[in-house]
Amino acid sequence: MELKSALKRCMRCGFCRASCPVFKETKNEGSVARGKLQTLLALLEGEIPASEKALLRLFECTTCDACSLACPAGVEVSPLIEEARRRYFAKLELPLHEWKVEITREMGNPFGEVMPRSEGEASVAYFPGCTTQFRAREIEQAALKLLSPLFDDLSVIRDFCCGAPLLTFGSAWEGFIARNRAKLEERGVDTLIVTCPGCYNTLRKHYRIEVVHLSALLVESLEELTFAPLSARVGYHDPCHLVRGANIYREPRELLEAVPGLELRELEHSQLKTRCCGAGGGFPLAFPELSARIARKRLEEAKRAKVELLTTFCPSCYLHLRTLAGEDLIVKDVTMLLAEEAER
Ligand code: SF4
Ligand code: SF4
Repeated sequence: MELKSALKRCMRCGFCRASCPVFKETKNEGSVARGKLQTLLALLEGEIPASEKALLRLFECTTCDACSLACPAGVEVSPLIEEARRRYFAKLELPLHEWKVEITREMGNPFGEVMPRSEGEASVAYFPGCTTQFRAREIEQAALKLLSPLFDDLSVIRDFCCGAPLLTFGSAWEGFIARNRAKLEERGVDTLIVTCPGCYNTLRKHYRIEVVHLSALLVESLEELTFAPLSARVGYHDPCHLVRGANIYREPRELLEAVPGLELRELEHSQLKTRCCGAGGGFPLAFPELSARIARKRLEEAKRAKVELLTTFCPSCYLHLRTLAGEDLIVKDVTMLLAEEAER
């Protein structure tokens, strides 16, 4: 659908206000989906100038899609925000976003690290993704520990970024993913197993390849896995991009419940109605304090549920919540917890 027509589907009812994590903090109409969509429409129709204030609204969004779930008109907000970012990115000065885009093009990843080599010749491969392999290696190691008994031969693809940072920040990316697709074809890889929700959604939507989320694979293999007992009250934070982006929320729970003695406690906002931790959509780059406030709200929910350990299934949520929790609460990716408890 053409962008303006999609924006005009918004009935201005304001139902999205109750669910937006950013609006909950700012109480500013411009922060919520209704305000953003009206601002964008006014920009496109030339009713307001493309001022820094107006354009910054497009980046004041974690792309959590809580608003889309609440919207009676069925407006899918985050794809509209991403499309708008593509149009206006070059007009706005966002140094950290620009650096991420430049460095992703130059070095192949948004952290400016040297890309490691891929390993193996198998057609099935684990794809850790940049955040995991450069900032949360413990998730990659845990995933490989869980996968190794299930596969005689498994490759690991490490030498490219899926392209999600370019897509999220609104930069051109078609050539970037075409090169990645060619690399997969050259290596004869036909199936990617992933742990990062951002990679999962990007690969699934934009690559011609089978993409499997580790949680789904492990649920299917539960008969082959045994876990040591863990006596603990454990919470699970549903990552927005995994639950609302990919409808995966039963599998992580099934896996946690397979650990003997583990008591799974639901947070107040869970499953499809999960509450964002503030880490998505490049939001912390431009709004670090707001992002931290949003994470603290989520951590307060974990405290109220009296959990001893908070889990999630996303490297970005894990890193963000772990940083903000400090010494108050242990935060782990589900992959890490399962690998620690896995028995051979
Ligand atoms: S809930 Fe949907 S229709 Fe209503 S104001 Fe928000 S985006 Fe517009
Ligand atoms: S996607 Fe999330 S942060 Fe963005 S406007 Fe909707 S509810 Fe708010």
